[in-house]
Amino acid sequence: MIITMEVDATSAQVDAVAKAIREQGVDPLVLPGEGRVAIGIPSALTSDKRDQIETMLGGMDGVSKITQTSRPYKLASLEFHRQKTVVEVGKVKVGPGHFVMFGGPCSIESYDQLARSAEVIAKSGGTVLRGGAFKPRTSPYAFQGLAEEGLQIMKRVGDEFGLVTISEAMSPEQVPLVAQYVDIIQIGARSMQNFPLLISAGKAMKPVFLKRGPSASIDDFLLAAEYVLSQGNPDVILCERGVMAIDRGYTRNTLDLSAVPVLKEYSHLPVIVDPSHGTGKAKYVAPMAKAAMVAGADGVMVEMHPNPKEALSDGSQALTVDQFERLMDELKKLAEFVGVAM
Ligand code: PEP
Ligand code: MN
Repeated sequence: MIITMEVDATSAQVDAVAKAIREQGVDPLVLPGEGRVAIGIPSALTSDKRDQIETMLGGMDGVSKITQTSRPYKLASLEFHRQKTVVEVGKVKVGPGHFVMFGGPCSIESYDQLARSAEVIAKSGGTVLRGGAFKPRTSPYAFQGLAEEGLQIMKRVGDEFGLVTISEAMSPEQVPLVAQYVDIIQIGARSMQNFPLLISAGKAMKPVFLKRGPSASIDDFLLAAEYVLSQGNPDVILCERGVMAIDRGYTRNTLDLSAVPVLKEYSHLPVIVDPSHGTGKAKYVAPMAKAAMVAGADGVMVEMHPNPKEALSDGSQALTVDQFERLMDELKKLAEFVGVAM
């Protein structure tokens, strides 16, 4: 339930409404907004209780409107937060009106590998450099990443090429370390419901890039974002990266492009699409990246590698330098047509 206060409601009136809700044994969530305050009430109440609260608040001074909502998330919802969020990281704006290319290898392997990737990304107009130092691998025998050494390489290369940087933290303990070296903290798909990790990322005063879990519904996804937002961190970027495929022989995951307009309808947060993990095959990345732009995404995250055959992880889905440059050219042409800055 959302209680929207009048534009000129006083803080005493807001406090009185919050107090009345608290007296019903319910915790109100007071959300100062553009021009007016909204107060949220958790939806997990019985309908009798909700009706009782609605009747009680209906007559109170300063209350403009009471909306019953079935959406379980509040801070992530557009209903609550009418203004679309643009996450600003240095000179990069992630949100409506801009289309941001996040590019780079799956894993940071060496200075030379990352610097060559960064050179290509910067030259072709990409603005965010990706690369994992802590890798969530299915097998414990697979390359696990260079850990702190990888983050040091990322920081150095990001500074040298003037790129914003992003890397994954897999545990709450890793968050401060990752935040020390990079501009954006990535939460991987497998970690989307690691709640202590989400809370830790919410406390780090850096933007959080949250990937959708392979079997997460839209509600699950936005509730995971809600964990980060509820810690006081407003800078959350959502990333659709494919859900469980029915036939994994053809694509690694099923890229759910319909999630883009759905998320845009229900949330104010920016949405990025990752066609690399979404398809698992380099040849499908460009068509799906272009489709993501047309679907209304605020950018794409694309894996590329100076030599995909030698990649220590996800080589089959990494674009070569040529393929990456070609995709950037195509996206720039499409951006003019779609009407977004790139
Ligand atoms: C990655 O970005 O390299 C990664 C591991 O992605 P995901 O969490 O989406 O599988
Ligand atoms: Mn990868």
